[in-house]
Amino acid sequence: MKGLIFNIQRFSTKDGPGIRTTVFFKGCNVNCAWCHNPESIDGDLMLRFDSKRCINCGRCAEVCRYSATEMIEGRRLYHLEKCTLCGDCVPACGEGALEMVGKNYTAEELYSIIIKDEDFYRESGGGVTFSGGEPLLQQEFLLDMLKRCKAAGLHTSLDTALNVEWSSIEEVLPWVDLVLLDIKGMNSERHLRNTGVSNEKILENAEKLSATGVEIIVRMPIVKGLNDSIEELRAAAAFLKDWQNLSAVELLPYHSLGVDKSSEYEALEAQKRFEAPDSDLIDKARELFNRSE
Ligand code: SF4
Ligand code: SF4
Repeated sequence: MKGLIFNIQRFSTKDGPGIRTTVFFKGCNVNCAWCHNPESIDGDLMLRFDSKRCINCGRCAEVCRYSATEMIEGRRLYHLEKCTLCGDCVPACGEGALEMVGKNYTAEELYSIIIKDEDFYRESGGGVTFSGGEPLLQQEFLLDMLKRCKAAGLHTSLDTALNVEWSSIEEVLPWVDLVLLDIKGMNSERHLRNTGVSNEKILENAEKLSATGVEIIVRMPIVKGLNDSIEELRAAAAFLKDWQNLSAVELLPYHSLGVDKSSEYEALEAQKRFEAPDSDLIDKARELFNRSE
């Protein structure tokens, strides 16, 4: 069994306590309009193309056996529908303009990377975070990784949107110390519009999660005009009010990283640019949640 991973970030300090390794699983079943990792949504390999580096030398077209890349009037032209993601063009490009995003790891391979920084985790109170994408969509592989990490005494965090069956969550929880729970809005219709899925299952799972006693940090992306109404934030504060195991609510004002990233994937639609919420709205939201971030 292998896990499809699109990034491994060592010495991360933003995904749980201390110094951590954050492992980003590829594939997600929530499609946020503002996603800052748009390459994470597709659960398959993807070819990344950086047009700024491309000098239209034609080497990628020469090696492509499927006519997925050709040179037309001196310019590289890519045909997504013909591309088999074989990866032959990547090393052929001497300019570093092409990259295959996503790599299949065995549990042994991934664990050997994570455990390299064991001393840093212990000294800083850190550990490992499984993020994505949605790690629970590769549940069997995730469970294997969690068990290995817990057997080594590592602190484990799971970053999830909970848009899966409760049984999948329940099965991994005994090996999870901290859940980083992404809540993207309380209004079901708006949630559907903003993410492509409604939020009933997510909120139902969130309530069940809060009853398990596992430590939870809620993370809420806030995007102007999409989910930044005071009603929406009040509803979230009311929803979380009685959670005994909630250690923080982190508000994440929108940033436009996903716009630039999406332009580097010919398989992705260009992401729309949104705006960050007003700073006084964030101040009000912090008051509402009345918890330190
Ligand atoms: S090999 Fe690289 S630089 Fe040359 S045309 Fe292809 S992508 Fe552009
Ligand atoms: S990944 Fe393979 S099929 Fe796709 S463009 Fe590159 S060489 Fe051609």
